[in-house]
Amino acid sequence: MLNTEFAAVLLFSAAILLNLTYYGYRRKHLPGAKPFCLLMLAMSIQTIGYAFEILSVNLDTMVLWLRIEYIGASFYPVLIMYFIREYLDERRIANRYMIMFLLAQNILTLVLVWTNPLHHLYHASYSMGQTWGFEVLALSRGIWYYVHVFVFYMVIIFGAYRLHQTYTSATGVYRKKTMFIFCSVLIPIVVFLAYLFGLGPDHIDTTIFSYVVMGALIAYGLYEHDFLNLLPLTQQDVLDAIDESVIVLDANDNLLDYNAAAGRNFNKLEKSKLGNLFREIAPFGRFNLEQSESQFHHEGLVFGAKVRNGMKNRFRIVVLQDITKRETAYRELKKFADRDALTSLYNRRYFLNLFEKSLNDGVVAILDIDYFKRINDSYGHLAGDKTLVAFSKSLKSCFKDYPVCRYGGEEFAIFAEGLTVAEFQRMLEDCQMKQAGDADLNAITFSAGISTYKAGYIEVAIINADEKLYEAKKAGRNLVVA
Ligand code: GH3
Ligand code: MG
Ligand code: MG
Repeated sequence: MLNTEFAAVLLFSAAILLNLTYYGYRRKHLPGAKPFCLLMLAMSIQTIGYAFEILSVNLDTMVLWLRIEYIGASFYPVLIMYFIREYLDERRIANRYMIMFLLAQNILTLVLVWTNPLHHLYHASYSMGQTWGFEVLALSRGIWYYVHVFVFYMVIIFGAYRLHQTYTSATGVYRKKTMFIFCSVLIPIVVFLAYLFGLGPDHIDTTIFSYVVMGALIAYGLYEHDFLNLLPLTQQDVLDAIDESVIVLDANDNLLDYNAAAGRNFNKLEKSKLGNLFREIAPFGRFNLEQSESQFHHEGLVFGAKVRNGMKNRFRIVVLQDITKRETAYRELKKFADRDALTSLYNRRYFLNLFEKSLNDGVVAILDIDYFKRINDSYGHLAGDKTLVAFSKSLKSCFKDYPVCRYGGEEFAIFAEGLTVAEFQRMLEDCQMKQAGDADLNAITFSAGISTYKAGYIEVAIINADEKLYEAKKAGRNLVVA
């Protein structure tokens, strides 16, 4: 009873194929997993059908099981093309119309198989034959059989060609994965060639036995480096629920997995393949994996990035938190903390801090607007404010390269590392000349006192400059005294 053993092997294969179907279904978000799952399901159906065909003892039941086999087998061309489309992201030939065309052709094949007695287009005749001492269905082929086989092998050859192209140009784990899948599609080609040359038993479809090998190879290729093997699926849901972008890499920095937030924030991840080298995925080319904490800028957003090594350095986790809002708020706050609200010059606190940290000797000046009270008294406080803003702008333009500060109401301070008193005095007097022609300034003038300073001794310098300022005021104003 060789046929029962034969059927047992087939049912065992079917069990494996169904397992692979389920396996693919559980990982359906991976590229190519959905078509893989459907292909495994189709192969399971054919294999089960074939097992029962072999077990059948009369022609009618055999033909019935044959029809059931085709519920799966008719759809291989469209499913393989769909797999190529999804796995390789191939959209040029494996486009929507191609998929629709193949689907239509495959449905027609199924219909013709089921209605075969009416036209004999698929199988010219059925009869009972003998192989290895048991009864089998002997089929002679009709026209549509050749059409279907032709379409099937065209798709397989195209798939093999594209997979080969991809795997030779790919990097990282993705290269290996694609190579496995490439080998797997070669299997039916080889078996078919063997069959064409008359190798193998009569009336026994040997391709069916190759499915398990093909399925296992594809599964290995698709999932070997799949981190989900280590990670229960509930944990994937937990990862997806996290707002931070989480990206998992293997020891060689190939992309293993990422959560939903990462997919949203970095849409290039969606387009690239699991197994690709992380640094080859735009925009991560300039991402420094060796730095455990850093900031990462992407499309106008700022991310706080953390890199953590997993157990025994077998994997790495990159966590990116969108801190754009926090950073913007921080920068705004810092601006307010450092600057005077009216004039946007540095405020006194920030200026003194900067001055204290200055490492080189230099000069410092304290400036005071002359008779400023009169502006307020004659034109009002608001006009006074406007004059202060205009004066600050003019002062900043005179001292572009130096820290300029609003020291008090209408008092200002500037320090300049490395300048001599004479140079600084000339700059201040040039500024006075320039301001004399500035209509926005309401003809105001300033007096200034200059002092040298030694790095680390700024208090003395400020007191000195203040004294000089007082002298300038006493001497009639609109003067710079050093
Ligand atoms: P001088 O320094 O030449 O001796 O005369 P002054 O009139 O400038 O001197 P004083 O220190 O008496 O007056 C400074 C005035 O500056 C007093 C105050 O009303 C005005 N002031 C200070 N801060 C502001 C401000 O933020 N806005 C306006 N509009 N006025 C201000
Ligand atoms: Mg004053
Ligand atoms: Mg004044």
